[in-house]
Amino acid sequence: MKYFSTNLISENASFKDALFNGLAPDGGLYMPVEIPELNKNLFYSNMSYPELATEIIHPFVENEISKKTLFNICESAFNFPIPLIQLDDHLQILELFHGPTFAFKDFAARFMARTMQFFMEKEKMERTVLVATSGDTGSAVANGFYNVDGIKVIILYPSGRVSKIQEHQLTTLGGNITALEIQGNFDDCQKLVKTAFLDNEIQHQRPLSSANSINIARLIPQSVYYTWAWMKANRPKNIMISVPSGNFGNLTGGLIAKRMGLPIAKFIASVNSNDIFPKYLQSGEYLPQEGKQTLSNAMDVGNPSNFERIKSLFNSEIKTISKNISSVSINDEITSETIISIFNKYNYLADPHTAVGIKGLEKICSKNEKGIVLSTAHPGKFADAIEPIIKNKVDIPAKLKKAMKKEKNSIIIPNDFEVFKSFLISEK
Ligand SMILES: *Cc1c(COP(=O)(O)O)cnc(C)c1O
Repeated sequence: MKYFSTNLISENASFKDALFNGLAPDGGLYMPVEIPELNKNLFYSNMSYPELATEIIHPFVENEISKKTLFNICESAFNFPIPLIQLDDHLQILELFHGPTFAFKDFAARFMARTMQFFMEKEKMERTVLVATSGDTGSAVANGFYNVDGIKVIILYPSGRVSKIQEHQLTTLGGNITALEIQGNFDDCQKLVKTAFLDNEIQHQRPLSSANSINIARLIPQSVYYTWAWMKANRPKNIMISVPSGNFGNLTGGLIAKRMGLPIAKFIASVNSNDIFPKYLQSGEYLPQEGKQTLSNAMDVGNPSNFERIKSLFNSEIKTISKNISSVSINDEITSETIISIFNKYNYLADPHTAVGIKGLEKICSKNEKGIVLSTAHPGKFADAIEPIIKNKVDIPAKLKKAMKKEKNSIIIPNDFEVFKSFLISEK
């Protein structure tokens, strides 16, 4: 498979180049030149998750990773349960948070770390992986790349804007992982990363790769669980899937799955008060905002980078985009109410991101329609946000408790590209 840049200037790249470059040299995002249609039999098979993942992902890496190697990568990356929980006849939850860092980002990060490792072992390369995080990406990436030879990971996170547990997950691994605490918001972190990529001097001294959802290798594995959910839900004819969205990488994975033939009626992009996307669908105007701080902090994105990819998938035709995606904004107050009402009604504790997804589905789905909500994080990961809402203790998984006991280790950096640049060049 070849990958083109959404800015249409750079040459097409192989999967490997798209994986290691992250951003195309012209500043665009890579997209596959073609989205292959899958054999319908696949959707009616009885495969295990790693088998299904191998079949769906293989066309995107063909000629570069053999099917057998790909299966081994998928088997080791996706080695945790992915349950579909039925709350009632109309509402199911796909829990994507049973990986090692308790958020759905483990899918992408573990896949990406293993594919990079595969190419690096063949060629003895060295790389610095840069990643901006609003909370969950950083820990998933750090965990995925921890102790991988030849890789150094630098995480940029917005100071004071991630949860305590998230911060500990980011800053306590040590080894080949460095955490930079940026005095700014997530969009500032993302901009520093993007600017570093386009800086020849840095790239010359210290070749960079990106593990953000600007990296196409993060999106491809995210197509698989949409298919899995549909199969587990007994292959419904008309189903909507609600996706708690921030940078829209998760949703783009779903759009790719649909393009491959998965019969999803509609996607719901459920966002918090960062409502650029629903506003765009309403008005046709895309107006980037400053990221606003909310309860669902991993979705506090004012200028989602995958918007370019969504436009590219639909030739920028807003009518077609609206046919495929509805979008709703849910504020913190309603998010809190939803956490309480879902808990009272079903005895099910949703984290704030999942709650945004549940409310989004409720708003768009009529009473007789069915929907699946992607649950993107374990509630224990957001205990400090949830406990005051439900006025009760939240169970924190033992592994997270352990991270909380370790000492935080971060480097504070102002939101200033020159400072960041000299850090990158000198720290090496
Ligand atoms: C990252 C994240 C999201 C948003 O996913 P995008 O792909 O950026 O839209 C939602 N929920 C949680 C818990 C996350 O970590």
